[in-house]
Amino acid sequence: MSEFDTKLIHGKKQNDNTTGAVNIPIYNSSTYIFPKVDAKVRWDYARSGNPTRAYLEDQLAQLEGGYQGFAFASGLSAIHAVLSIFSPGDHIIIGDTVYGGTFRLINQFFKKWQLEFTAVDTQDLEQVKNAVKTNTKAIYFETFSNPLLRVTSVREVAEIAQKNNLLTIVDNTFLTPYLQQPLKLGADIVVHSATKYLGGHSDVVAGIVVAKNQELAERIYFNQNGIGAVLSPESSNLIRRGIQTLAVRLDRHLSNTAKIVEFLQGRDEIKSIYYPGIPGTKDYQVASLETSGYGGIVSFELQNGLDTTKFVESLNLIQLAVSLGAVESLIELPYKMTHAEMSEDEQREIGITSQLIRLSVGIESPNDLINDLKQGLDLLNYQKEV
Ligand code: PLP
Repeated sequence: MSEFDTKLIHGKKQNDNTTGAVNIPIYNSSTYIFPKVDAKVRWDYARSGNPTRAYLEDQLAQLEGGYQGFAFASGLSAIHAVLSIFSPGDHIIIGDTVYGGTFRLINQFFKKWQLEFTAVDTQDLEQVKNAVKTNTKAIYFETFSNPLLRVTSVREVAEIAQKNNLLTIVDNTFLTPYLQQPLKLGADIVVHSATKYLGGHSDVVAGIVVAKNQELAERIYFNQNGIGAVLSPESSNLIRRGIQTLAVRLDRHLSNTAKIVEFLQGRDEIKSIYYPGIPGTKDYQVASLETSGYGGIVSFELQNGLDTTKFVESLNLIQLAVSLGAVESLIELPYKMTHAEMSEDEQREIGITSQLIRLSVGIESPNDLINDLKQGLDLLNYQKEV
């Protein structure tokens, strides 16, 4: 068995490569020849299966330690396919800080189809236990919450799920299988916005699902083929290529983030920092036990009275944009950008204030990133009260 870093470079061996190409070709054919009318063919129609996509799907299954992987046209279409395995009247417990688009899909789409949801703080295991009802079928959450990076224990939530015969579904976008493999901690299904770290270059939108066993894989495959939001061969190739550098990119994301956190800790303009790699919190404890790194996203608040808009707009290198997990650093104000659909009360409830900033740390020179943050903070002219 090869090690994880090697598996990133070399997926499953190809058996139909007649050219000797070292990478899986981009197969653009939408349909495939049947040698005879009733021949059993591996490929028949590209929505149902495509060799380029299948390479990526097999590789993700290996990396996450699952039975089968599935690639979708976006993270949200992956989540849609997963939630579509449930039936009207089923109840799902959902983390109260999951990605806003996931909430929109639940509240404005799945509720119309009579799926029931209860949002809870999945860090609080009592809340999770108390939300279980007779019709509950699954618990769905993100290990690191967005934007405050609060950490849920996959192992503990999966234990509750197993006791109650529920599925555990984890959105592993923020960590990737390089830093956490939720299936090994007891989860049943993993989803990804592959648009983020798996792709890694802000040039493709994609989603991934990995199922732990054959029974779940069959249910998800039915939805992938039946609903049809499959990832194109070109985009499958871009995600495949991104994955080859996942380990080296993430090592750099992690070391850059640690340096930036240290820098922020030394600045008076910063009121608070949210990063699971800072010792002394429950988030740190759980992340230390269940992940092999604290991620490349850090959120922080400026002191009251300091203008966050002025700060993010004054940066020269770090770009003002939503999304995360790419080679370039991206910064945003959650209250005005990623979480703008929430009411002020809802934002306050999960700790989003006008002082909060989320930074997705890229793999540029850490000195350049720190210098950019420094010049932005210096412009604020903050005088510490003594
Ligand atoms: N899950 C998480 C944690 C996300 O951050 C996002 C997008 O930002 C999604 C899912 C949705 O993925 P996509 O934008 O690829 O549809």
